[in-house]
Amino acid sequence: MLEKKLARTKIIATLGPSSARPELIRRMVKAGVDAFRLNMSHGNNVARETWIGWIREIRAELERPISILVDLRGPRIRLGELKQHRTLRLGEKIWVRGGSKEGKNGDLPIDYRGLSKDVSVGDRIRIRDGRAELKIVEIKGSRLLCKVRRGTQLASFQGVNLPDSEVSAPALSAKDRKDLAWAVKQEVDWIALSFVRSAKDVASLQRALHKLKSDIPIIAKIEHPNAIENLKEIIAETDAIMVARGDLAVEVGHAKVPLLQRRIIRQCLGAATPVIVATQMLESMIEAEQPTRAEVSDVANAVSQSADAVMLSGETAMGNYPVQACRVMHDILIATEEEMFTSDWRQYPGIERIGDRPGSVGMAVAHAAIMAAHLSLAKLVLVFTESGRTSRLVASFRADLPFIGITSREKAFHRMSLIWGVLPGLIPLADSVADLHRLAATVLVKSKWIRDQDLLVALAGTFSVAGGTNTISLIQLQDLRQTSAPGA
Ligand code: PEP
Repeated sequence: MLEKKLARTKIIATLGPSSARPELIRRMVKAGVDAFRLNMSHGNNVARETWIGWIREIRAELERPISILVDLRGPRIRLGELKQHRTLRLGEKIWVRGGSKEGKNGDLPIDYRGLSKDVSVGDRIRIRDGRAELKIVEIKGSRLLCKVRRGTQLASFQGVNLPDSEVSAPALSAKDRKDLAWAVKQEVDWIALSFVRSAKDVASLQRALHKLKSDIPIIAKIEHPNAIENLKEIIAETDAIMVARGDLAVEVGHAKVPLLQRRIIRQCLGAATPVIVATQMLESMIEAEQPTRAEVSDVANAVSQSADAVMLSGETAMGNYPVQACRVMHDILIATEEEMFTSDWRQYPGIERIGDRPGSVGMAVAHAAIMAAHLSLAKLVLVFTESGRTSRLVASFRADLPFIGITSREKAFHRMSLIWGVLPGLIPLADSVADLHRLAATVLVKSKWIRDQDLLVALAGTFSVAGGTNTISLIQLQDLRQTSAPGA
């Protein structure tokens, strides 16, 4: 299982035409990938079902926890279909038509029906990651007269951003609802929602999941200025966050993204909410075998800011070096993590926010476990977790301690692959505390992180009850095999 050094920061790779083959998926997992993203903005479900089948076979074969993440398009706006490429030139005036799939009489089609309602004269329209920028000078029904402020060549279905406008489209379109029903049927591990603007958008996805009788956890993508304003409420509502830097940069301007990234990560750490940093991390590796120095620094920066996971997009979906990009990412994670820990546990990034959430028994127990492990020189922290929640709490301290999260739920086992630092372990359902301990001991021995006489710190709650972690015990591995107490 542990054929190579595990990075604490996890890697998500987006699957696409250049990586969606079983042998490449296997090599990417061996190179250190922990999760695969399926982007619902491109491709079709028949292909995606085949990909999911391959991931499931490979994760079973390699006995690795691997998450399958479905990324919903959300209220993302796009160009309609262009019969041929269209070049916009600086200073020219063009007509844009909202709610249009093809555009008529030379109008540039934009697929959003509410476009002319949501914008005002003077607002900007950005297209193709901001490479083109238009300013609205007149609004006539569903048509907008615009002046080109930055020109480029455009093709069908490229992304459109409205950085000055309040987009009133619902969080989930009809397509998103269909995609969600499909994702639930596929029993994927995480659902990401694009262009979240407020906690209400997350709640609306929660309701849709509830109706489908699903408990798949939600990743809210932060890429809209309203999401920055409503960050605290969104973090409180969601299961995880993604700093979706591509669209965020187009919406708020490139210069603000690095410090927004830091702010978002800090707030997530404070709430023990997993956080992913995404987009253009190793962008030049779409074409080249080696990254630029700046890209290496960008990944290292996300690691040292304490992101739970970093994501590859175009690099693995359509790049020439998908496996190499994963290897490079993994090497940067390992090298950075080796340097980032201090021997003084009081300086761990998570420790400083103790007291942020008074009243959380789980957080208090997680904190006590980290302290106890340091002071007793225990070799690792062992978490018994039904849902993965206690792993999240322990992970949020970002402590330099091996840390194993044991569960009998296969869903929790795979979902934990996105959480910082945890080595997930899957055991059969135990019928007694003694049985549970014996099964956990097997996973510990297999990890090779601990020997019989070594001390470990175990976090547990009432046997078989989720969310009730209230006990820590300091125990030797050899005793864990025989004991039936305490807790768990
Ligand atoms: C982003 O915009 O950074 C992002 C992750 O979203 P997508 O890849 O869906 O555009």
